[in-house]
Amino acid sequence: MPNFDAIIIGAGQSGPALARRLVAAGRKVAIIERKLFGGTCVNTGCTPTKTLIASAYAVHVARRAADYGIRIEGSINLDMKAVKTRKDAVVAVFRNGVEHSLKTLQGCRVYQGHGHFIAEKRLAVNGSELAADQIFINVGARAAIPPIPGLDQVPYLTNSSMMDVDFLPSHLVILGGSYIGLEFAQAYRRFGSEVTVIEIGPRLISREDHDVSQAIAGFLKEEGIDVRVDSKIIGVEKLGNTIAVNIESTGGISQIAGTHMLVATGRRPNTDDLGLDRAGIATDRRGYIQVDDQLRTNISGIWAMGDCNGRGAFTHTSWNDFEIVAGNLLDNDQRRVSDRITAYALYTDPPLGRAGMTEAEVRKTGKPALISTMAMKDVMRAYEKGETKGFMKVLVDRDSKQILGASFLGLEGDEVIHCVLDIMYAKAPYTVIQRAMHIHPTVSEFIPTMMDKLKPLQ
Ligand SMILES: Cc1cc2nc3c(=O)[nH]c(=O)nc-3n(C[C@H](O)[C@H](O)[C@H](O)COP(=O)(O)OP(=O)(O)OC[C@H]3O[C@@H](n4cnc5c(N)ncnc54)[C@H](O)[C@@H]3O)c2cc1C
Repeated sequence: MPNFDAIIIGAGQSGPALARRLVAAGRKVAIIERKLFGGTCVNTGCTPTKTLIASAYAVHVARRAADYGIRIEGSINLDMKAVKTRKDAVVAVFRNGVEHSLKTLQGCRVYQGHGHFIAEKRLAVNGSELAADQIFINVGARAAIPPIPGLDQVPYLTNSSMMDVDFLPSHLVILGGSYIGLEFAQAYRRFGSEVTVIEIGPRLISREDHDVSQAIAGFLKEEGIDVRVDSKIIGVEKLGNTIAVNIESTGGISQIAGTHMLVATGRRPNTDDLGLDRAGIATDRRGYIQVDDQLRTNISGIWAMGDCNGRGAFTHTSWNDFEIVAGNLLDNDQRRVSDRITAYALYTDPPLGRAGMTEAEVRKTGKPALISTMAMKDVMRAYEKGETKGFMKVLVDRDSKQILGASFLGLEGDEVIHCVLDIMYAKAPYTVIQRAMHIHPTVSEFIPTMMDKLKPLQ
């Protein structure tokens, strides 16, 4: 049985980086990947969706060309095969990069197959048994399929199978009005599909503040997306060439029939076929591996990183998990999960950049706070670019003057949010950014102005 110093299961966002660090520290490492190198982010998540969204943005701007004084002679046609080819090419660069770097890494042996525990520090893959004193689990998550009556009888798409779509669905019905569903919704609407989003909750992306989710629903509807909230799906069925979704809402029972259906109702960890019980590794009731603040599982010498530990659901949280584990193990740097500040983006157009607490969360703390908002139509750069949808909102602790959170929904919101995020990490008062001289004309130049306009949160 080959013995290693460390075995990593899964070549997602944290596994490959940790393999490189461990090898550099002189450890003998094995990494097991059962499918595609780079995992969800590279193959079926961030990279392909943002590449598709770039195509959707291009066609959207082309259609708005006249707004900018440009006349396009003839019609604007979309070639979905070419859109997919472009997406595949971008993905291939990243995936091949990860695969090549691991396969050429001296001191690291790559196993391609499904890895699972057969005992505490022993794994099986492709009939071979491997052992190591240290094991790192980076197995990620996949689309959760809800128990909707009839769902198993109809063809449906997930974020993974959407990646093979090289045609334009005539009517895409999306189950789930949260981050993943909304990015696909806008992209496919811009490609030319009729799109319906069905959300069980009273509003889209309900984790965000009311004003944020309302503004997003507003611009999606303006683009012609049929948004159905407060809508419980009670069943799906095949109806001729369509898939019919039966919905119960306050108005009674209704039916929406689409040509294609995307299920985007959440994620579940890839831990059900990992043999965790053979190693005695504890999970919560949803299957997420339980870890402490340094990502150690209940079994000494076994760590869990990335989406499978339930401590984050983003590429940057998985990467940060790698940094925490490497810091603690190799650098005598006691980094912790609790050091990090919530931060993420939604890549609709305009995007939403988020840092720290929402306004609702700040209110719940009951602490005296200050708030400032600014409409994107008052931001000169947005005006100049003809992209004035959305608004920016920042919340500050009245006493400590530290920034508690921000939601930037608007042009470059995903980038501008970092102005605030880094001040939060520095634990500096908002007055630092208030006094900073920012560059004109940018969206960021209005962050100091927003700080000038802070007023008590009523
Ligand atoms: C549509 C979509 C869009 C997204 N967009 C963004 C975004 O814009 N920004 C962002 O930050 N996040 C985004 N995410 C989330 C992001 O993709 C994930 O949070 C991130 O990829 C998690 O990385 P990970 O390291 O936990 O695991 P993953 O990247 O999922 O990798 C896990 C790997 O483990 C392998 N594996 C699983 N089980 C086994 C086993 N038993 N044996 C061997 N190998 C195994 C898998 O094949 C996979 O390659 C998006 C997700 C989706 C679905």
